[in-house]
Amino acid sequence: MNKGANIIDGKAIAATIKDELILDTEQFFQNTKIQPKLSVIILGQDPASLFYVRMIEKTCQKVNFQFEKHALSSKISEDELLELIKQQNNDNKVHGIIIQTPLPKHINQEKIQRALNPGKDVDCFNPVNMGNLAMGNPVFLPCTPNAVVEILKRENIEVEGKHVVIVGRSNIVGKPLALILLLKQPNANATVTVCHSRTTNISSFTRKADIIVAAAGKAGLIKGDMVENNPVVIDVGTNEVEGKLVGDVDFDEVSKVVSKITPVPGGVGPVTNMMLMKNTLRAAKNMTEKVY
Ligand code: NAP
Repeated sequence: MNKGANIIDGKAIAATIKDELILDTEQFFQNTKIQPKLSVIILGQDPASLFYVRMIEKTCQKVNFQFEKHALSSKISEDELLELIKQQNNDNKVHGIIIQTPLPKHINQEKIQRALNPGKDVDCFNPVNMGNLAMGNPVFLPCTPNAVVEILKRENIEVEGKHVVIVGRSNIVGKPLALILLLKQPNANATVTVCHSRTTNISSFTRKADIIVAAAGKAGLIKGDMVENNPVVIDVGTNEVEGKLVGDVDFDEVSKVVSKITPVPGGVGPVTNMMLMKNTLRAAKNMTEKVY
């Protein structure tokens, strides 16, 4: 396996952001006596979701945020869930709210998304926040796409005017990432191509990319022969293969022909968590400054 200097250390980037957040949170507390608080709503016992929520709790502890978990039965009614969201929306001590997906089939996801106060929607779950982003005026940036952009920024990788090819068009990764990279602002202004499962000849796009972002959820999708001219490769994919976590990029092949690459694990994942914390602090600041 390539252990060379071209491997981006997502854990180190996350550690730097964590230290910055601790200072920023301390400063905010000194000024306002408010400790940011993140509330997580989780339905059922999905092990991956429970693991993710535990990780969020630990990250909150590291950056001195309050954390509150609402673990509910997957049989809860839609009205009961809406009532809890309403209560969290109205609780001035709660700054950020996450509703863990997938939701049980009897619950209308869009109704739940729209019920969430956009000013507390630190995971950009409410379509209002996606709409604000699409209009070029985001309040929060979705955590995973924002982690990709943050990594590029901190690695001093120029994005402006570059051709970024994203593989994946989901509402939580590919599509919002394209919208962020199209923003008319520093660390954006890119030319973006979005590929998906119906794209014919993905290689013809990835070979022309300055930056490739793989977010398809397909282990080993991006092979060495799909890459030319030493691009930067950011691997968002997290797939379990024979009990091992791997990305969407065939790391052994691709890492030999790129200028920089993120590994899985230890790439985008740790930075995503920090983006969630950043959004929660932003939400707390916005509430005190009555921005939203
Ligand atoms: P998703 O909702 O399943 O979307 C996958 C996207 O990839 C879809 O747009 C799909 O195309 C496209 N796709 C699937 N197979 C393809 C193929 N063979 N060729 C080209 N495109 C293909 O997944 P997601 O939620 O966006 O997540 C993507 C990956 O990122 C997953 O592995 C997930 O676990 C990971 N992830 C990581 C983090 C993190 O923090 N590291 C956070 C979120 C997600 P269609 O639209 O045509 O179906």
